[in-house]
Amino acid sequence: MAALDADLTRRSASELAQALGSGQVSAVEVAQAHLDRIDAVDPAVHAFLHVARDEALAAAADVDTRRAAGESLHPLAGVPIAVKDVVATRGLPTTAGSRLLEGWVPPYDATLVERLKGAGLVILGKTNMDEFAMGSSTEHSAYGPTRNPWDLDRIPGGSGGGSAAAVAAFEAPLAIGTDTGGSIRQPAAVTGTVGVKPTYGGVSRYGLIALASSLDQAGPCTRTVLDAALLHEVIGGHDPRDSTSIDAPAPSAVEWARRAHVKGVKVGVIRELGGQGYQAGVRQRFDEAVALLTDAGAEVVEVSCPHFEYALAAYYLILPSEASSNLAKFDAMRYGLRVLPEGVDAPTAEQVMAATRDAGFGDEAKRRIILGTYALSSGYYDAYYGQAQKVRTLIARDFEAAFAKADVLISPTAPTTAFRLGEKLDDPLAMYLNDVATIPANLAGVPGMSLPAGLAPEDGLPVGVQLLAPATADERLYGVGAALEAMLAERWGGPLLSQAPELEVSA
Ligand code: GLN
Repeated sequence: MAALDADLTRRSASELAQALGSGQVSAVEVAQAHLDRIDAVDPAVHAFLHVARDEALAAAADVDTRRAAGESLHPLAGVPIAVKDVVATRGLPTTAGSRLLEGWVPPYDATLVERLKGAGLVILGKTNMDEFAMGSSTEHSAYGPTRNPWDLDRIPGGSGGGSAAAVAAFEAPLAIGTDTGGSIRQPAAVTGTVGVKPTYGGVSRYGLIALASSLDQAGPCTRTVLDAALLHEVIGGHDPRDSTSIDAPAPSAVEWARRAHVKGVKVGVIRELGGQGYQAGVRQRFDEAVALLTDAGAEVVEVSCPHFEYALAAYYLILPSEASSNLAKFDAMRYGLRVLPEGVDAPTAEQVMAATRDAGFGDEAKRRIILGTYALSSGYYDAYYGQAQKVRTLIARDFEAAFAKADVLISPTAPTTAFRLGEKLDDPLAMYLNDVATIPANLAGVPGMSLPAGLAPEDGLPVGVQLLAPATADERLYGVGAALEAMLAERWGGPLLSQAPELEVSA
């Protein structure tokens, strides 16, 4: 029995879908196996802020009943999934990793959650994250950090470290992340998993707790490219409730992932991403991935994106500006926490608001609210926010020029492998540098994928390679990504995660 359970948690979503569809296993068995795995390893990993045990088993039982009744179900019906805690889930606590939202239970589902439920996916729980998705390590969560399953003393990336770690630790085959500057792709890179940030507007933002509305995008966290494609098609496509949603169906991700081809595809290596400041082992694995593509018949060219140099600076004006405005709604009146100021008999609304925000927001959130408020203030608006928006246009033009020469672009996902917990916590600028390669895609709205490229020789930790495609051409990521994944699996003797150390299991 135990062997079978272990087996189920090791299967990809597409394998589980097959086993469920053919009646080899029930959705309840699959859910139970994953809940048992969470019980066994999550005390050490801390990927989850909330496990929805009863709800998951009930949803799984419902799928089994419907299947038994001969209903025709979505292929992923009965496959478990974890959801980042920044996504509103009706009846399940949603904190965005903040004290400010402790105890808040949304009365509605995000559109993407509605779609997951509609397809019969089984929600296991909510995953840990940096507060309001600000961070690259999940250490800014108010509920304690998540640990990297490859080495529990190291960070799982951020802000969506919980989703990536849950998938890497075999607690869930699928998870939802959100990516404003890299929070799906960078955690994927450092945990040896696959993460996709769709085209901006490709997945509805309705029901996502907004960080920076012009940058935020939800997407899949998985162990295989095909699984990401399957999930992308469930959550993607137009939503009238999101005014920036693209009026088109989800990309044909699955078809492209199954077709997996690179022959004749023009792949552009971005000159500005991957040189100085990148760990030697990251560069080595990246070069190897490029060589594999060349061997497989891709046409590799070099492209230059000169304005990427300013992406980080522009992002850290635009993001705090939008965040300061989005986070203004946490006013102690409408959601979650309310703190009364000490020693005041009849506090005013403003005093309650100040006391609540002081107690409820962590350091990083405060830092960005102050920065953003300053950047938007009259007299400084043009010099900071206005300038940053102009840089954003230049970055979009760099992408246009690069995509005139190449079908997809390639770079390392992150400059280093997973660093140690605490290593960068006191140095915000060092922390921000982790997203140097992922941020340009958010600024321009183009889609990106990170997939595991192997282990860095110096520390034995996973390295991620990033593919980028033009806006609304997400399917190209799946075509090239699946082909590269297959070549890398051959090179590494199987999926990279099969080489991760066994986690110690709690009794
Ligand atoms: N690490 C980046 C930041 O701190 C990206 C965050 C994100 O994508 N949510 O803003």
